[in-house]
Amino acid sequence: MQEWQKQLSGSAVRVEDLPFLPESVEYREKLKKVAEVFPIRINSYFMSQIKSENDPLWKQVVPTLEELDDIIDEESLLVSDPLNEEGDMPVPELVHRYPDRVLLMVNNQCPIICRFCTRKRKIGFPGIVTRETLRQGIEYIRLHSEIRDVILSGGDPLLVPDKELDRILRELRSIEHLEIIRIGTRVPGTLPHRVTQELCKILKKYHPLYFNIHFNHPDEITPEVEEACNMLADSGIPLGSQTVLLKGVNDNSDVMTKLMQKLLKMRVKPYYIYQADMALGTNHFRTNVQKGLDLMSSLQGHTSGMGVPYFVIDAPGGGGKVRLLPNTVIEHNEKEVRIKNYEGKVFSYPQPTNKPSNNNTVIPEELPAADSCRISV
Ligand SMILES: *Cc1c(COP(=O)(O)O)cnc(C)c1O
Repeated sequence: MQEWQKQLSGSAVRVEDLPFLPESVEYREKLKKVAEVFPIRINSYFMSQIKSENDPLWKQVVPTLEELDDIIDEESLLVSDPLNEEGDMPVPELVHRYPDRVLLMVNNQCPIICRFCTRKRKIGFPGIVTRETLRQGIEYIRLHSEIRDVILSGGDPLLVPDKELDRILRELRSIEHLEIIRIGTRVPGTLPHRVTQELCKILKKYHPLYFNIHFNHPDEITPEVEEACNMLADSGIPLGSQTVLLKGVNDNSDVMTKLMQKLLKMRVKPYYIYQADMALGTNHFRTNVQKGLDLMSSLQGHTSGMGVPYFVIDAPGGGGKVRLLPNTVIEHNEKEVRIKNYEGKVFSYPQPTNKPSNNNTVIPEELPAADSCRISV
């Protein structure tokens, strides 16, 4: 057994295995009810990184009674499939929402089970994604020449054994119209030993291959995680990140800025920050949308532009991702655009005037040097 397999088989999956829980027997009994609805998994690597109750890693993986609030509250707006993924599946476990790309679920196991997961309805339950759904998904891509981009998701594609992953990638690469393959994974940040030389050797064969890695907090970035990302980047894989905005975990500008800077430092380009989805059992993680806009303002201009991701809401009901930006345009008319910079200072950009061009311009004998013509607007 490899190191990562031991860490996975040593996962906490029962209430009895959870770290830093109150002693109360009554509380534990209630928590068992939560775990019957939404399974638990904390692999032993991730467990070793949890330092105390309510720390940012603890909050992401240890269930609380709040998860049942949405089920008990009949007026809750939260639902099991907030993005209506099931409604956009032409074949089981393949979401075809945008014209030229699809999302293919290759399993439904993860290195940890996130309490705020948008696919809480599926993750950790066996028998949903099968060899047969995967076969149908690949066949669908083969038959649809408009698909030029596939995102492997799940679950976590990197929990698929090497040989099987090799086979899936080989089959996808045999489809001529498929230009790029992306892998969406939480493995490098939560089970970094899974990134082995053998795995990199397999991945390298299937370029252009992109990764989007799920990271929510700077404490997830340990020396082991840096090593895993290094190995992937050295294999020529462009690395991006995806972050879910979570109340009490990363809804703070210092935390978010530090996360983005740490990601850049290990060659991961921040890609998306997601407003939390309306997934049943996750209401306690949601923030007001203004919080995300404020975080974007605290990043933009204050740190490397490379480290500023897009802030998006995945539209409830299945409209796809919509980018949101803090307002920087104060006025926009025919004459000028008035814009606000990161310090809040206002500048005017004059629009070009529509003077007809004139080829009969009289050119003076002596033109002034260009640098003496500087005009400050
Ligand atoms: C996020 C997502 C994609 C990819 O979107 P990009 O903006 O291209 O990264 C594709 N399909 C589905 C269903 C998605 O949710």
